Amino acid sequence: MISLVLPCYNESAVLELTYNTLVNASKNWGDTIEIILVDDGSHDDTWELIEGLARRDRRVRGCKLSRNFGHQAAVGAGLEMADGDAVIVLDADLQDPPGLIGEMLQKWRQGYEVVYAQRRKRVGDPAFKRVMTKLFYRLLERANNSAFPRDVGDFALLDAKVVQTLRGFKEHAVFWRGLRWWSGFKQTNVLFDRPERARGETKYTLRKLAQLGIDGLLALSPLPPRLPLYVGAATLALAAGCTLVCGGAKLLGQASIDWATLLLSLALLYVAGAQLCCLGVLGEYLNRIYAEVRNRPRWIVSQAVGEALSARQTPQVWTGPGGQSLAG
Ligand code: UDP
Ligand code: MG
Repeated sequence: MISLVLPCYNESAVLELTYNTLVNASKNWGDTIEIILVDDGSHDDTWELIEGLARRDRRVRGCKLSRNFGHQAAVGAGLEMADGDAVIVLDADLQDPPGLIGEMLQKWRQGYEVVYAQRRKRVGDPAFKRVMTKLFYRLLERANNSAFPRDVGDFALLDAKVVQTLRGFKEHAVFWRGLRWWSGFKQTNVLFDRPERARGETKYTLRKLAQLGIDGLLALSPLPPRLPLYVGAATLALAAGCTLVCGGAKLLGQASIDWATLLLSLALLYVAGAQLCCLGVLGEYLNRIYAEVRNRPRWIVSQAVGEALSARQTPQVWTGPGGQSLAG
């Protein structure tokens, strides 16, 4: 069975279309499917739509998070529910084309355990977002000795054992595409051009996108905590240079107090700014350590609809303390 996991936040404009497209596409795959729709605390009638789809089609299951926990949390909640031999994570707005899933399944059947979709280009995104994401993925690539694949999102097929592994990651600022890569297994890609959202507006505000970027960088790059060391070393080198220049000028009788004072106060300003930035980096780590120590739930499920296929096929029968069946 193939599980399709879709995080949905205020997606009532597109959900029905997405469901129909998935069901139609699945006719070519020849597998049983289940569609898992996770409502990430929507304010529109996304949840009512999910309930309606689950009533209509037993292959649809859903859960509603108690508030908006964010895309990554919604994906996590979906991975917890998925029962399939392969699980495909995709966005609810058809920007992750269901037409690509056939190729993913083919590669899975060839023995690949992770098949991730890699963007050749993205249509319709604002230039700023395109540039920032390009930069971000190049940075991640550099930070990981070119091993991290560029321009990937959460759209991927995961073998059941990869899903099992990912469920074991309990970190709070979770970045699934990073953990997916980090966990290893036999991975390959399929290439695609990312189309525009089918209906509705983007749900990723600039703030959410920046948060995701920071989470990804801090999770996958060893550079940020070393930043204070580098800045400190550069500052020391600068101070030594200033000392030499000022000392030399004094020796040659060229020194002007005004000039030296200006240079020094400017240098001090830069150093103060750099120090605060470094403190900010450390604060960011402290925040994350605090979140891990508090260990609050990463998301809260408030409602669920639909029944797992596995629960239907193999009814749970309690065998009693001695192992004897109490059923019938
Ligand atoms: N999403 C979510 N919670 C959020 C924001 C987004 O579950 O807080 C879902 C959204 O419904 C969609 C996917 O994450 O299925 C990607 O969001 P979107 O398409 O708005 O982002 P974009 O493609 O514009 O980057
Ligand atoms: Mg989208």
